[in-house]
Amino acid sequence: MSSRRNFIEKVTVSAIGMPLLFNSPNLLAATEASYDGPVLRVAIMGLGSYGSRVAKAMVDCKKAKLVGVISGTPSKIKDWQAKYSIPKKNCYNYDNFDAIKDNDDIDAVYIITPNGLHCDQTIRVAKAGKHVICEKPMAISVAEGQKMVDACKAAKVKLLIGYRMHYEPKTKALIQMRMNGEFGTPKFFQGQSGFVIGDPTQWRLNKELAGGGAMMDIGIYSINGARYILGEDPIWITAQETKTDPVKFKEGVDETIQFQMGFASGAVANCLSSYNIGNLDRFYMSGSDGWLEMKPSTGYGPIKGRTHKGELNQPHVTHQTLQMDGMAELIFNGKQPIVPLDGEEGVKDMKIIEAIFEAAKTGKKVEISI
Ligand code: NDP
Repeated sequence: MSSRRNFIEKVTVSAIGMPLLFNSPNLLAATEASYDGPVLRVAIMGLGSYGSRVAKAMVDCKKAKLVGVISGTPSKIKDWQAKYSIPKKNCYNYDNFDAIKDNDDIDAVYIITPNGLHCDQTIRVAKAGKHVICEKPMAISVAEGQKMVDACKAAKVKLLIGYRMHYEPKTKALIQMRMNGEFGTPKFFQGQSGFVIGDPTQWRLNKELAGGGAMMDIGIYSINGARYILGEDPIWITAQETKTDPVKFKEGVDETIQFQMGFASGAVANCLSSYNIGNLDRFYMSGSDGWLEMKPSTGYGPIKGRTHKGELNQPHVTHQTLQMDGMAELIFNGKQPIVPLDGEEGVKDMKIIEAIFEAAKTGKKVEISI
Protein backbone atom coordinates (compact mmCIF):
# COMPACT_ATOMS: atom_id res chain seq x y z
CA MET A 1 0.00 0.00 0.00
CA SER A 2 2.77 2.41 0.88
CA SER A 3 4.47 1.93 -2.49
CA ARG A 4 1.16 2.64 -4.19
CA ARG A 5 0.77 5.79 -2.13
CA ASN A 6 4.31 6.83 -3.05
CA PHE A 7 3.42 6.35 -6.69
CA ILE A 8 0.33 8.55 -6.35
CA GLU A 9 2.36 11.24 -4.58
CA LYS A 10 5.08 11.09 -7.24
CA VAL A 11 2.54 11.55 -10.01
CA THR A 12 0.96 14.51 -8.19
CA VAL A 13 4.28 16.19 -7.46
CA SER A 14 5.59 15.77 -10.98
CA ALA A 15 2.28 16.93 -12.45
CA ILE A 16 3.15 20.59 -11.95
CA GLY A 17 6.24 20.32 -14.08
CA MET A 18 4.75 17.90 -16.62
CA PRO A 19 1.41 19.20 -17.91
CA LEU A 20 1.16 16.52 -20.60
CA LEU A 21 1.39 13.71 -18.08
CA PHE A 22 -1.07 15.43 -15.75
CA ASN A 23 -3.47 15.94 -18.63
CA SER A 24 -3.67 12.25 -19.37
CA PRO A 25 -7.14 11.07 -18.25
CA ASN A 26 -6.08 7.41 -18.40
CA LEU A 27 -3.20 7.88 -16.02
CA LEU A 28 -5.34 9.90 -13.64
CA ALA A 29 -8.07 7.26 -13.67
CA ALA A 30 -5.54 4.48 -13.15
CA THR A 31 -3.95 6.15 -10.13
CA GLU A 32 -7.26 7.14 -8.54
CA ALA A 33 -8.92 3.80 -9.09
CA SER A 34 -6.06 2.06 -7.33
CA TYR A 35 -6.54 3.80 -3.97
CA ASP A 36 -7.14 1.37 -1.11
CA GLY A 37 -5.90 3.45 1.85
CA PRO A 38 -7.81 4.93 4.78
CA VAL A 39 -10.95 6.99 4.17
CA LEU A 40 -11.82 10.10 6.21
CA ARG A 41 -15.39 9.73 7.48
CA VAL A 42 -16.97 13.18 7.63
CA ALA A 43 -20.15 14.65 9.12
CA ILE A 44 -21.30 17.96 7.64
CA MET A 45 -22.74 20.55 10.04
CA GLY A 46 -25.10 23.04 8.35
CA LEU A 47 -26.96 21.68 5.34
CA GLY A 48 -27.24 24.96 3.46
CA SER A 49 -26.13 26.08 0.05
CA TYR A 50 -22.38 25.45 0.43
CA GLY A 51 -22.85 22.33 2.55
CA SER A 52 -24.92 20.89 -0.31
CA ARG A 53 -22.16 21.70 -2.80
CA VAL A 54 -19.52 20.01 -0.64
CA ALA A 55 -21.69 16.90 -0.15
CA LYS A 56 -22.21 16.57 -3.90
CA ALA A 57 -18.47 16.99 -4.58
CA MET A 58 -17.59 14.37 -1.96
CA VAL A 59 -19.39 11.68 -3.95
CA ASP A 60 -16.30 11.67 -6.22
CA CYS A 61 -13.76 11.62 -3.39
CA LYS A 62 -11.53 8.57 -3.00
CA LYS A 63 -10.14 9.37 0.43
CA ALA A 64 -13.08 11.10 2.15
CA LYS A 65 -16.71 10.10 2.54
CA LEU A 66 -19.82 11.83 3.85
CA VAL A 67 -21.19 9.62 6.63
CA GLY A 68 -23.12 11.96 8.94
CA VAL A 69 -25.03 15.23 9.31
CA ILE A 70 -25.67 17.86 11.98
CA SER A 71 -28.61 20.12 11.22
CA GLY A 72 -31.38 22.16 12.82
CA THR A 73 -33.83 21.21 10.06
CA PRO A 74 -35.31 17.69 10.35
CA SER A 75 -36.66 17.69 6.78
CA LYS A 76 -33.15 18.30 5.39
CA ILE A 77 -31.75 15.46 7.51
CA LYS A 78 -34.35 13.15 5.99
CA ASP A 79 -33.50 14.25 2.44
CA TRP A 80 -29.76 13.87 2.98
CA GLN A 81 -30.21 10.44 4.61
CA ALA A 82 -31.98 9.24 1.49
CA LYS A 83 -29.62 10.93 -0.95
CA TYR A 84 -26.33 9.89 0.68
CA SER A 85 -27.34 6.69 2.53
CA ILE A 86 -26.66 8.21 5.95
CA PRO A 87 -27.70 5.98 8.87
CA LYS A 88 -29.92 7.45 11.59
CA LYS A 89 -27.26 6.90 14.24
CA ASN A 90 -25.02 9.43 12.41
CA CYS A 91 -27.64 12.24 12.43
CA TYR A 92 -27.50 15.01 15.04
CA ASN A 93 -28.94 18.44 15.78
CA TYR A 94 -27.29 21.50 17.36
CA ASP A 95 -28.43 20.48 20.86
CA ASN A 96 -27.20 16.90 20.89
CA PHE A 97 -24.11 16.81 18.66
CA ASP A 98 -21.69 16.64 21.62
CA ALA A 99 -22.71 12.97 21.72
CA ILE A 100 -20.69 12.50 18.53
CA LYS A 101 -17.79 11.73 20.88
CA ASP A 102 -19.28 8.24 21.34
CA ASN A 103 -19.64 7.65 17.60
CA ASP A 104 -16.65 5.69 16.29
CA ASP A 105 -17.91 5.92 12.72
CA ILE A 106 -17.16 9.66 12.39
CA ASP A 107 -13.57 11.03 12.17
CA ALA A 108 -14.19 14.69 11.37
CA VAL A 109 -16.90 17.35 11.34
CA TYR A 110 -17.04 19.94 8.53
CA ILE A 111 -18.62 23.14 9.92
CA ILE A 112 -20.50 25.00 7.15
CA THR A 113 -22.74 27.30 9.19
CA PRO A 114 -22.84 31.13 9.47
CA ASN A 115 -19.46 32.61 10.49
CA GLY A 116 -20.58 33.79 13.93
CA LEU A 117 -21.32 30.20 14.99
CA HIS A 118 -17.97 28.66 13.95
CA CYS A 119 -16.06 29.32 17.19
CA ASP A 120 -18.51 27.75 19.61
CA GLN A 121 -19.20 24.83 17.27
CA THR A 122 -15.49 24.18 16.67
CA ILE A 123 -14.79 24.07 20.40
CA ARG A 124 -17.65 21.61 20.95
CA VAL A 125 -16.48 19.34 18.12
CA ALA A 126 -12.89 19.43 19.42
CA LYS A 127 -14.08 18.52 22.90
CA ALA A 128 -15.87 15.56 21.35
CA GLY A 129 -12.47 14.41 20.05
CA LYS A 130 -13.19 14.82 16.32
CA HIS A 131 -11.06 16.66 13.74
CA VAL A 132 -12.54 19.99 12.64
CA ILE A 133 -12.77 21.33 9.13
CA CYS A 134 -14.23 24.84 9.36
CA GLU A 135 -15.38 27.12 6.58
CA LYS A 136 -13.85 30.52 5.92
CA PRO A 137 -13.81 32.98 7.55
CA MET A 138 -12.82 30.69 10.44
CA ALA A 139 -14.45 33.08 12.94
CA ILE A 140 -15.54 36.69 13.35
CA SER A 141 -12.50 37.92 15.33
CA VAL A 142 -8.86 37.12 16.04
CA ALA A 143 -9.75 36.28 19.64
CA GLU A 144 -12.30 33.69 18.52
CA GLY A 145 -9.91 32.21 15.95
CA GLN A 146 -7.18 31.83 18.55
CA LYS A 147 -9.62 30.14 20.96
CA MET A 148 -10.42 27.63 18.22
CA VAL A 149 -6.73 26.91 17.58
CA ASP A 150 -6.11 26.46 21.32
CA ALA A 151 -9.15 24.19 21.79
CA CYS A 152 -8.12 21.91 18.91
CA LYS A 153 -4.54 21.75 20.19
CA ALA A 154 -5.72 20.88 23.70
CA ALA A 155 -7.98 18.14 22.28
CA LYS A 156 -5.18 16.90 19.97
CA VAL A 157 -7.38 17.17 16.89
CA LYS A 158 -6.64 18.92 13.61
CA LEU A 159 -8.22 22.26 12.70
CA LEU A 160 -8.33 22.90 8.95
CA ILE A 161 -9.93 25.89 7.21
CA GLY A 162 -11.92 25.44 3.99
CA TYR A 163 -9.44 27.29 1.75
CA ARG A 164 -10.34 25.23 -1.32
CA MET A 165 -8.06 27.26 -3.65
CA HIS A 166 -5.02 25.74 -1.93
CA TYR A 167 -5.86 22.50 -3.77
CA GLU A 168 -6.91 24.06 -7.10
CA PRO A 169 -4.55 22.95 -9.91
CA LYS A 170 -3.94 26.31 -11.68
CA THR A 171 -3.51 28.14 -8.38
CA LYS A 172 -1.02 25.48 -7.28
CA ALA A 173 0.87 25.72 -10.57
CA LEU A 174 1.20 29.51 -10.22
CA ILE A 175 2.36 29.26 -6.60
CA GLN A 176 4.93 26.68 -7.72
CA MET A 177 6.11 29.02 -10.51
CA ARG A 178 6.56 31.81 -7.96
CA MET A 179 8.46 29.43 -5.67
CA ASN A 180 10.68 28.47 -8.62
CA GLY A 181 11.48 32.15 -9.17
CA GLU A 182 9.83 32.23 -12.60
CA PHE A 183 8.35 35.71 -11.95
CA GLY A 184 11.58 37.02 -10.40
CA THR A 185 10.87 39.13 -7.30
CA PRO A 186 7.12 39.66 -6.77
CA LYS A 187 6.45 43.41 -6.75
CA PHE A 188 2.71 44.07 -7.03
CA PHE A 189 -0.52 42.16 -6.43
CA GLN A 190 -3.99 43.27 -7.37
CA GLY A 191 -7.02 41.37 -6.04
CA GLN A 192 -10.64 42.05 -6.91
CA SER A 193 -13.26 40.04 -5.02
CA GLY A 194 -16.93 40.88 -5.03
CA PHE A 195 -20.49 40.36 -6.19
CA VAL A 196 -23.86 42.06 -5.82
CA ILE A 197 -25.62 40.53 -2.82
CA GLY A 198 -29.40 39.99 -2.91
CA ASP A 199 -31.88 39.38 -0.07
CA PRO A 200 -31.29 42.07 2.61
CA THR A 201 -32.60 39.76 5.36
CA GLN A 202 -29.97 37.00 4.90
CA TRP A 203 -27.44 36.18 7.66
CA ARG A 204 -24.56 37.49 5.51
CA LEU A 205 -25.87 41.02 6.19
CA ASN A 206 -26.34 40.43 9.93
CA LYS A 207 -23.29 41.59 11.89
CA GLU A 208 -23.72 39.06 14.70
CA LEU A 209 -23.85 36.07 12.37
CA ALA A 210 -21.48 37.32 9.66
CA GLY A 211 -18.97 39.38 11.69
CA GLY A 212 -18.96 42.07 9.00
CA GLY A 213 -20.00 42.24 5.38
CA ALA A 214 -18.18 41.63 2.10
CA MET A 215 -14.71 41.49 3.67
CA MET A 216 -15.45 38.44 5.85
CA ASP A 217 -17.21 36.63 3.02
CA ILE A 218 -15.48 37.49 -0.25
CA GLY A 219 -12.74 40.07 0.42
CA ILE A 220 -10.93 37.34 2.37
CA TYR A 221 -10.13 35.70 -1.00
CA SER A 222 -8.03 38.72 -2.02
CA ILE A 223 -6.31 38.72 1.39
CA ASN A 224 -5.48 35.02 1.30
CA GLY A 225 -4.66 35.26 -2.43
CA ALA A 226 -2.21 38.15 -1.95
CA ARG A 227 -0.40 36.03 0.64
CA TYR A 228 -0.15 32.85 -1.44
CA ILE A 229 0.62 34.60 -4.71
CA LEU A 230 3.29 36.91 -3.24
CA GLY A 231 4.51 34.32 -0.71
CA GLU A 232 4.68 36.91 2.08
CA ASP A 233 2.59 38.33 4.93
CA PRO A 234 1.82 42.07 5.09
CA ILE A 235 3.43 44.48 7.56
CA TRP A 236 1.10 47.45 7.05
CA ILE A 237 -2.45 48.11 5.88
CA THR A 238 -4.40 51.14 4.68
CA ALA A 239 -8.10 50.99 3.74
CA GLN A 240 -11.00 53.14 2.56
CA GLU A 241 -14.69 52.24 2.89
CA THR A 242 -17.51 53.30 0.59
CA LYS A 243 -21.14 52.84 1.63
CA THR A 244 -23.92 53.76 -0.81
CA ASP A 245 -26.75 51.90 0.95
CA PRO A 246 -26.65 52.26 4.75
CA VAL A 247 -30.06 50.60 5.10
CA LYS A 248 -28.97 47.32 3.49
CA PHE A 249 -25.39 47.56 4.81
CA LYS A 250 -25.87 48.55 8.44
CA GLU A 251 -23.24 49.66 10.97
CA GLY A 252 -20.44 47.08 11.01
CA VAL A 253 -21.52 45.45 7.74
CA ASP A 254 -19.10 46.63 5.05
CA GLU A 255 -20.39 47.14 1.53
CA THR A 256 -17.20 48.09 -0.37
CA ILE A 257 -13.65 48.45 0.97
CA GLN A 258 -10.50 49.20 -1.01
CA PHE A 259 -7.37 48.22 0.86
CA GLN A 260 -3.66 48.32 0.36
CA MET A 261 -1.02 46.07 1.95
CA GLY A 262 2.71 46.56 2.20
CA PHE A 263 5.23 43.73 2.59
CA ALA A 264 8.72 43.58 4.10
CA SER A 265 10.26 42.87 0.66
CA GLY A 266 8.86 46.16 -0.64
CA ALA A 267 6.03 44.45 -2.57
CA VAL A 268 2.62 46.16 -2.41
CA ALA A 269 -0.96 44.98 -2.94
CA ASN A 270 -4.05 46.93 -3.92
CA CYS A 271 -7.37 45.11 -3.41
CA LEU A 272 -11.11 45.64 -3.66
CA SER A 273 -13.80 43.82 -1.66
CA SER A 274 -17.46 44.47 -2.43
CA TYR A 275 -21.05 43.30 -1.93
CA ASN A 276 -22.27 45.90 -4.40
CA ILE A 277 -20.00 45.61 -7.45
CA GLY A 278 -20.43 42.59 -9.72
CA ASN A 279 -17.95 40.50 -11.71
CA LEU A 280 -15.03 41.04 -9.34
CA ASP A 281 -13.01 37.83 -9.49
CA ARG A 282 -9.51 38.64 -10.68
CA PHE A 283 -5.91 38.40 -9.46
CA TYR A 284 -2.92 40.05 -11.12
CA MET A 285 0.71 39.91 -10.06
CA SER A 286 3.72 41.63 -11.52
CA GLY A 287 7.22 40.50 -10.64
CA SER A 288 10.66 41.69 -11.75
CA ASP A 289 10.79 39.00 -14.46
CA GLY A 290 7.18 38.23 -15.33
CA TRP A 291 3.49 38.45 -14.51
CA LEU A 292 0.37 36.36 -13.92
CA GLU A 293 -3.34 36.96 -14.30
CA MET A 294 -6.19 34.79 -13.01
CA LYS A 295 -9.74 35.54 -14.15
CA PRO A 296 -11.81 33.98 -12.73
CA SER A 297 -9.44 33.60 -9.79
CA THR A 298 -11.45 32.07 -6.94
CA GLY A 299 -14.94 31.16 -8.22
CA TYR A 300 -16.03 27.54 -8.40
CA GLY A 301 -14.28 27.22 -11.74
CA PRO A 302 -13.03 26.51 -14.20
CA ILE A 303 -10.36 28.94 -13.07
CA LYS A 304 -8.45 30.62 -15.90
CA GLY A 305 -4.85 31.68 -15.66
CA ARG A 306 -2.12 33.05 -17.89
CA THR A 307 1.39 34.31 -17.40
CA HIS A 308 4.14 35.96 -19.46
CA LYS A 309 4.85 32.36 -20.61
CA GLY A 310 1.33 31.63 -21.88
CA GLU A 311 -2.00 30.08 -20.88
CA LEU A 312 -2.28 27.53 -18.07
CA ASN A 313 -3.87 24.23 -19.14
CA GLN A 314 -4.31 22.13 -16.01
CA PRO A 315 -7.72 20.43 -16.23
CA HIS A 316 -10.60 21.61 -14.04
CA VAL A 317 -11.53 19.26 -11.21
CA THR A 318 -14.31 20.16 -8.75
CA HIS A 319 -12.49 22.13 -6.05
CA GLN A 320 -14.25 20.57 -3.08
CA THR A 321 -13.45 17.02 -4.30
CA LEU A 322 -9.73 17.85 -4.43
CA GLN A 323 -9.93 19.68 -1.12
CA MET A 324 -11.56 16.83 0.79
CA ASP A 325 -9.23 14.18 -0.65
CA GLY A 326 -6.30 16.49 0.17
CA MET A 327 -7.51 17.09 3.71
CA ALA A 328 -7.89 13.35 4.24
CA GLU A 329 -4.25 12.89 3.20
CA LEU A 330 -3.22 15.70 5.53
CA ILE A 331 -5.07 14.17 8.47
CA PHE A 332 -3.91 10.59 7.84
CA ASN A 333 -0.37 11.12 6.50
CA GLY A 334 0.50 14.70 7.43
CA LYS A 335 0.85 15.52 3.73
CA GLN A 336 0.73 19.33 3.59
CA PRO A 337 -0.85 21.30 0.73
CA ILE A 338 1.37 23.69 -1.25
CA VAL A 339 0.45 26.48 1.20
CA PRO A 340 -0.97 25.81 4.67
CA LEU A 341 -4.66 25.86 5.57
CA ASP A 342 -4.56 25.13 9.27
CA GLY A 343 -6.11 27.15 12.08
CA GLU A 344 -3.01 29.35 12.45
CA GLU A 345 -3.36 30.29 8.79
CA GLY A 346 -6.99 31.24 9.40
CA VAL A 347 -5.97 33.43 12.35
CA LYS A 348 -3.52 35.32 10.10
CA ASP A 349 -6.35 36.29 7.77
CA MET A 350 -8.50 37.32 10.77
CA LYS A 351 -5.65 39.61 11.93
CA ILE A 352 -5.50 41.23 8.51
CA ILE A 353 -9.28 41.69 8.42
CA GLU A 354 -9.25 43.38 11.84
CA ALA A 355 -6.41 45.65 10.68
CA ILE A 356 -8.38 46.53 7.51
CA PHE A 357 -11.45 47.45 9.58
CA GLU A 358 -9.30 49.58 11.89
CA ALA A 359 -7.56 51.31 8.98
CA ALA A 360 -10.90 52.02 7.26
CA LYS A 361 -12.37 53.43 10.48
CA THR A 362 -9.43 55.59 11.54
CA GLY A 363 -8.06 56.51 8.12
CA LYS A 364 -4.62 55.63 9.49
CA LYS A 365 -1.90 53.29 8.26
CA VAL A 366 -2.00 50.24 10.56
CA GLU A 367 1.21 48.37 11.27
CA ILE A 368 0.65 44.63 11.54
CA SER A 369 2.79 41.74 12.71
CA ILE A 370 1.51 38.25 11.94
P1 NDP B 1 -26.39 29.06 3.94
O1 NDP B 1 -27.22 30.11 4.58
O2 NDP B 1 -26.77 28.58 2.59
O3 NDP B 1 -26.35 27.77 4.89
C1 NDP B 1 -25.97 27.86 6.24
C2 NDP B 1 -26.64 26.71 6.99
O4 NDP B 1 -26.22 26.80 8.36
C3 NDP B 1 -28.16 26.78 7.06
O5 NDP B 1 -28.78 26.20 5.94
C4 NDP B 1 -28.46 26.01 8.32
O6 NDP B 1 -28.43 24.62 8.04
C5 NDP B 1 -27.25 26.30 9.21
N1 NDP B 1 -27.55 27.27 10.26
C6 NDP B 1 -27.42 27.04 11.60
N2 NDP B 1 -27.77 28.10 12.31
C7 NDP B 1 -28.14 29.05 11.43
C8 NDP B 1 -28.60 30.40 11.58
N3 NDP B 1 -28.74 30.98 12.79
N4 NDP B 1 -28.89 31.10 10.47
C9 NDP B 1 -28.74 30.54 9.25
N5 NDP B 1 -28.32 29.28 9.05
C10 NDP B 1 -28.00 28.54 10.15
O7 NDP B 1 -24.89 29.59 3.96
P2 NDP B 1 -23.67 29.05 3.09
O8 NDP B 1 -23.77 27.59 2.98
O9 NDP B 1 -23.56 29.84 1.85
O10 NDP B 1 -22.41 29.47 4.01
C11 NDP B 1 -22.04 28.74 5.16
C12 NDP B 1 -20.56 28.93 5.45
O11 NDP B 1 -19.81 28.49 4.34
C13 NDP B 1 -20.11 30.38 5.68
O12 NDP B 1 -19.12 30.44 6.67
C14 NDP B 1 -19.56 30.80 4.34
O13 NDP B 1 -18.59 31.84 4.42
C15 NDP B 1 -18.94 29.51 3.86
N6 NDP B 1 -18.86 29.42 2.40
C16 NDP B 1 -17.68 29.05 1.84
C17 NDP B 1 -17.56 28.93 0.47
C18 NDP B 1 -16.29 28.49 -0.14
O14 NDP B 1 -16.17 28.52 -1.36
N7 NDP B 1 -15.32 28.02 0.63
C19 NDP B 1 -18.68 29.26 -0.41
C20 NDP B 1 -19.90 29.60 0.28
C21 NDP B 1 -19.97 29.67 1.64
P3 NDP B 1 -29.40 23.59 8.78
O15 NDP B 1 -30.77 23.97 8.36
O16 NDP B 1 -28.96 22.27 8.28
O17 NDP B 1 -29.17 23.75 10.27
